[in-house]
Amino acid sequence: METGSRSYEPLQQSSQFIKGVGPARQVYLERLGIRTVEDLIMHFPRAYLDRRNLVPIGRLVPGAEANFVGTILAVSPRAGRRARSILTVAVGDESGVVNLVYFNQPYLEKYFKQGERVVASGEMTIYRGARQLVSPECEVIGSDLTESLIHAGRIVPVYPLTAGISQRMMRRIVHGALEKSAGAVPENFTPALMEEFDVPPRAEALAAIHYPESLERLERARRRFKIEEVFFLHLLLMERRARQSRARTRPPVPPPHPLLERFVAGLPFELTAAQRRVLGEIAGDVERSAGLNRLVQGEVGCGKTVVALAAAMLAIGKGYQAALMAPTEILAVQHRDRARGFCDRLGVRTALLIGALPKAEKIRVQEEIRTGAVDLVVGTHALIQDLISFKELGLAVIDEQHRFGVKQRARFAAEESLLPHYLVMTATPIPRSLAQTVYGDLDLSIIDELPRGRRRVETKLVPADERGRVYGGIRAAFERGEQAFILYPLVQESERTDLLAATEEFERLQREEFAAHPIGLLHGRMSFEEKAKAIELFRRGEILGLVTTTVIEVGVDVPNASMLLVNHPERFGLAQLHQLRGRVGRGGADGSCWLLLGDDAGAAARERLAFFAAHDDGFAVAEEDLRLRGPGEIWGYRQSGTPGFRLINPLGDHELVRLSWDAAGRIIGRDPGLALPEHRPVARYFNRSYKPKLALAEIG
Ligand code: ADP
Ligand code: MG
Repeated sequence: METGSRSYEPLQQSSQFIKGVGPARQVYLERLGIRTVEDLIMHFPRAYLDRRNLVPIGRLVPGAEANFVGTILAVSPRAGRRARSILTVAVGDESGVVNLVYFNQPYLEKYFKQGERVVASGEMTIYRGARQLVSPECEVIGSDLTESLIHAGRIVPVYPLTAGISQRMMRRIVHGALEKSAGAVPENFTPALMEEFDVPPRAEALAAIHYPESLERLERARRRFKIEEVFFLHLLLMERRARQSRARTRPPVPPPHPLLERFVAGLPFELTAAQRRVLGEIAGDVERSAGLNRLVQGEVGCGKTVVALAAAMLAIGKGYQAALMAPTEILAVQHRDRARGFCDRLGVRTALLIGALPKAEKIRVQEEIRTGAVDLVVGTHALIQDLISFKELGLAVIDEQHRFGVKQRARFAAEESLLPHYLVMTATPIPRSLAQTVYGDLDLSIIDELPRGRRRVETKLVPADERGRVYGGIRAAFERGEQAFILYPLVQESERTDLLAATEEFERLQREEFAAHPIGLLHGRMSFEEKAKAIELFRRGEILGLVTTTVIEVGVDVPNASMLLVNHPERFGLAQLHQLRGRVGRGGADGSCWLLLGDDAGAAARERLAFFAAHDDGFAVAEEDLRLRGPGEIWGYRQSGTPGFRLINPLGDHELVRLSWDAAGRIIGRDPGLALPEHRPVARYFNRSYKPKLALAEIG
């Protein structure tokens, strides 16, 4: 049969079409994101049990690991002398009988029922002349002979579960879905792609990923679906990119760039070589008609803001406007202030646009943006929310992109007539293969150098009972004229946890530890005016300690702050801690970061934090964070409406990422609309299955 003609419709039927799935179970399944038959067959095992070689019970040999299937003949619980309870389950087949023995697991008694079949694995021993297995791995597989073939006698899948659905039930349901869709699974690669990727056809891979006949076949099936995960994402990114460059509304900006030169000459410092190189890459892009679509990655404190402002000068120098968008109001204000310091004397007019502005002022700023009375507007997502119209926007910069998610990006460029040059900054360093996957529609620049004189930040792990010593250290820093951030994981104490919270602790610290020193409070639930006032007082040195939350995580730049105390560091991800740590050591004094462990921080958390304390390179930290948490979490993949990676690990599987990247580029390059007949299988999956899921993810 010609698989290219199979339709996606049968697969898109509700999973309730499968035997065993009623309305109640459907609700459970939906918790796993399963709604359709297709979702069921794409619910991949998280592990496998090798139950291929079943040994007749009579032929079990003492000392050898074996799998066998048998029927429960008797279940006898009894109280033992030393052990509190002993459960003996006699299991037999035509060839013999063996006892399964469980100590101190009285609840198992209900699990085993006489007459049901079980599959068990373990090592047989002889005890007082009786053949037995102590605590073998064992699963009840029902009394039905055919059904038991799903669970034993082969390599058996182990699925991710949710409350209300047992392993056996899930296996039965997925097996049913596979049977129902057998012969109906459309192919989504072309034969050429399958050959190039060296993967089996989709239908074959699907059968093999659930019930592989051999480990080799399983490996090939996994390869197939790994590559599928990135390939369609790559197609999406490239299609978007092709659309953008076809739009061509962004004006090329040819040299010379006198405004940029004056901007750079007027800086109070020399740009680092890395900053100059990246600026050169940006300038190279804006001079071409394909335009600028670039991600700038660089360690916290490497000086991305000044590069962003310099890039803005490229556009402003030619009479266009530029916009700089930051994820928080605090950061937007700080960027605006800094921009002003550099711009006022160049005659470049700047404005601030954030949600907290009084209505009248907001309207005034919007009007200035529309008429072209401002050249550079700095703001938050207010910049894209209110459908601001620019007179002529030449360049848009998004700072700390990882805080926005992928969706936001699409919207900035939604109005096709208004496509500006586009620059994205992020401080979370990620390996190139992952960057290519997440930001595959952007070119990549890396600022891999910190400005000279940047101070070391020493990171120390401190046990909870040494709190007093930490406060002493902070007071000493205050006496030297330095400042400190004192960070808490929560704003307010909640009833459910005993975590310390910023507001309560602030009041206590003010009365006790820091009675002699001015301290302030800054958290996300304060009004904008209160926040701005707190940070201003801190910046001016009128308060020495700032009790705060993660609102300071991104970008806050107060050079005189040398100390950071993090309470409950075990509550934070490593990449986030690294961002936080980047807030200190920016000025004249070495920085220190104290991680004050909560009482209940476990061994794993301590180990993680010890790694963090020993590494000050953001790249190493990010890689460890990725390894521990997976890319999805760091990048907020799911929230941002892009399907997550279930099988592929862009770090380990970079060969597959590259293969996919090259192939997707070739296809979109030749056939941007996927209209050629030979691309039909790809186009159909992309349009009928992949993209609709994206839309769902964005709504849901
Ligand atoms: P990030 O890359 O984390 O956004 P910023 O742009 O906030 O870093 O820069 C951190 C600090 O370093 C700022 O105070 C900035 O003025 C300063 N800075 C940037 N570039 C240089 C440089 N080449 N030499 C010295 N200081 C610099
Ligand atoms: Mg920054």
